[in-house]
Parts: sequence; structure tokens; C-alpha cells
Amino acid sequence: MLGMKYARNDIVSSMYLLNLFTMKCTDYISKSAKQNGDFIMKKILFFVLLSTLSLSNAQINFGVEDKDFSKGNIGNIHTGHNEIILTFDDGPVPGVTDKVLDILSEHNIKATFFVIGNNVKANPKLMKRMVDEGHIIGNHSMSHIALQHLDPLTWKDIVNREILDAHSVITPYLVNNKHFYFRAPYAAWDKSFAEFLNENEIGKQYIGPILWDIGGELEVKDGKYLQAADWECWSKKISIDDCMSGYLYEATKRKGGVILMHDLRHQSAELLAKMIPELEDRGFTFSTMNDVNWK
Ligand SMILES: [Zn+2]
Repeated sequence: MLGMKYARNDIVSSMYLLNLFTMKCTDYISKSAKQNGDFIMKKILFFVLLSTLSLSNAQINFGVEDKDFSKGNIGNIHTGHNEIILTFDDGPVPGVTDKVLDILSEHNIKATFFVIGNNVKANPKLMKRMVDEGHIIGNHSMSHIALQHLDPLTWKDIVNREILDAHSVITPYLVNNKHFYFRAPYAAWDKSFAEFLNENEIGKQYIGPILWDIGGELEVKDGKYLQAADWECWSKKISIDDCMSGYLYEATKRKGGVILMHDLRHQSAELLAKMIPELEDRGFTFSTMNDVNWK
């Protein structure tokens, strides 16, 4: 899959060079034809133009175009389809990620794990299990620092380390991915990061930063949970049932979408175990990041 991706880029760039060369030739022949008024020259020109056109078509039809980093976070990703895409951030964490994987496997659901590079290095067995069980891996930086208020002199080094070094760490685990996905810690982002990363051969193949549709924040009105975010539920000692009611309300309101959760605390695994049957009862089906129609 990844091999194909690189091969595709090589072919596309060599086609580009070939096209450039053909155009130069066309230019030269056209000048000569003008000077000589030669019929044979015009005929050659016609065939060269024809081959340029067919090469351009081949290039356009070859495959999926590269997905650049975006200037801002990508929101409203997959609402309105009555489908749920589960995403888990900040892991892998022993004792929690295992439980999440058990529950997903029990229901035969594939999720996306936006992992932290340092946690990946410390937990290769959990990473292997994620991949063996068909899950998708997203890049969530190397150390989970907020990419904001960075020093103008060092920000490029930090962005390189946090995103591209993390990419190297997760590369062996990207076997189920259709694309490279990135989610920014704390959703902190700047358009200059996108411009910088899109100049990089790996960076420019990323989709991101990717937000979520459901689970971003806690909102309670007249005792009713209109939204919930797992980390905030646990820090405010909100019960699993109340927290779940916020998730379910938002999922129903938005007719599905990308759910944000964290495989950091055991309560999130318990929430997941209760929430999957509730979502299924409400008619939702489960899909993955690979199923999103990225524009
Ligand atoms: Zn995070």
C-alpha cells in the first residue's frame, strides 16, 4: 500500500519531467517549422502534441491526488450519514488501549488511533495488536505539545520533530491506512506549518489537521447533557451514563460523525463498552477514516 504510494509519486514526477521535455521539443520544432515552412516538420509537431496530450491524461487518471496539510483544522468531517467513525487520541496506554481493543474486537468495529510517537516507542506490542486487528493509525505528534506560541527561530525544528519524526516512528504501523492522517494536540495549528510541511515529500501526503464532530466539549443545559467530552467528564467526576448521554445526544443531532475519545483512562473504555450497543440501537453503523470522502 505505502510502496504503491511512493511508486505512484515517482511515476507522476517522471511523467512531469517527460511532459516538460516534450513541451520543450514542441517549442523547438514549432520554431523550426515556422522558419522552414516544412510539411514534414508540421507532421512531427502534430504527433508530439498528441503524445503530450495523452501523457497529460494518463497523469490525471493515474490515481488519488496528493492530500496536502490544510491551513486550518478540518472540521465537519462525516456528519449526516448516520455513520460513526470512532477515534481514540493520546495512546497507546497499557491497561486502557488493550481494553478498548477488546471491546472493538468483540463488536468487530475498526477505529482510528491518533497515537503519540513517544507512547508508540514504549508500546510496540500494543501497536502491533492494533494493526493486526485492522485499525487505522493517525499521527498525533511526538510528545503532545501544543503547537502554538513557538519561537520564530526554532518552530521549524519543533514542527519537524513533532510531526515528521513521529511519522517515522509510526511508519511500520500504517498498513491499514488509505492516507496519512494527522490530528494536532489541542487543535493548535498555524497555516505556516502547513506551508512548511507541504514542501516535504512525506508532509505533503498528509490529510490534516483533522478535528472531530462529536465529543469535543461538555455542555449541560437544565440538567440535560447536550454534548460531552470523555476527559472532561472524568476530571469533573461525571458518571459514565451522564457522559454517554451527552455523546448520544450530539451523535443523534448531527446524524453521526467522527467521535473523539481518549484511550488514557479506564472510564473511557467502560464508556465505549456501554455506548456501542446504544449507538447500534439508534441505527448507526460504523465506518472508518478511510471511508471519508476527502475533498
Ligand atoms: Zn491529544
